[in-house]
Amino acid sequence: MPDPWMPGLRHDPGRSAGYNAGRNRMWMAVDHDTGGNNSYEICKWGRQGYNAGLCQVLFPKQGVPWQFCEIDALCYHAGSAQYGDYNPFGPGFEVERLQGEPLSDDQATWIGRVFAWCESEWRLPNIHYWGPQFGWWQANFHGHVNHRDIHPNPDGLSPAEWAQSAGAAGGGQEPTPIKKRGNPKMWCAAITDLKWVDVYYNGVMVEGFTNDGPFGIGDKLKRYLDAGAGMTIYKNEAEYSPVRARLAKSVS
Ligand SMILES: [Zn+2]
Repeated sequence: MPDPWMPGLRHDPGRSAGYNAGRNRMWMAVDHDTGGNNSYEICKWGRQGYNAGLCQVLFPKQGVPWQFCEIDALCYHAGSAQYGDYNPFGPGFEVERLQGEPLSDDQATWIGRVFAWCESEWRLPNIHYWGPQFGWWQANFHGHVNHRDIHPNPDGLSPAEWAQSAGAAGGGQEPTPIKKRGNPKMWCAAITDLKWVDVYYNGVMVEGFTNDGPFGIGDKLKRYLDAGAGMTIYKNEAEYSPVRARLAKSVS
């Protein structure tokens, strides 16, 4: 079980801490703007009469973000009976800013770090959905979506801000070595039902890989490996073995 508190954040347990309202699946994160300037109390304690806070992590304009509960605890950031309850799908990330304000340098840096940690520790892919708004109750993206993708609220990150954050955190250059964790077939099984996979560090070979279209299993795997972890799909052993040999040398 990975640490549910990210090292380096300000750990500041609020209403959702201790799994007060239950857990989320760490499958689909929702990226938000607070739409205000002082959202600490509401994010930490939630609305009056509720048993959960508003978000797991709040990114202030300056300094280190607050983490108000375990990253896999349940918060009330993206749900209603009317629009679909996505709170159990994953964490909510609140960026302290008015609508239309740019990210501060600290926000970009910390967004990049926190999202990379969610991927490396929790297998929540560090990729963002950029398609049209989902139909009510139809969002099921493995990675990040904006609040506006699933709700009438207009908040979320732009593609430029996503790239800015990844870059500020040092992403977008050398691929991060993937820690092998248990049986690689097991964690691949979490994102795909492909029958045969062989994972080594920064590469994966998928026998008989086919892309079965947007949001299909093949596409999800490809997005996760290419965009998320800087990985590449090789279709056969001949293509992959030289890469594997090189990667094995570069990872201790
Ligand atoms: Zn929101």
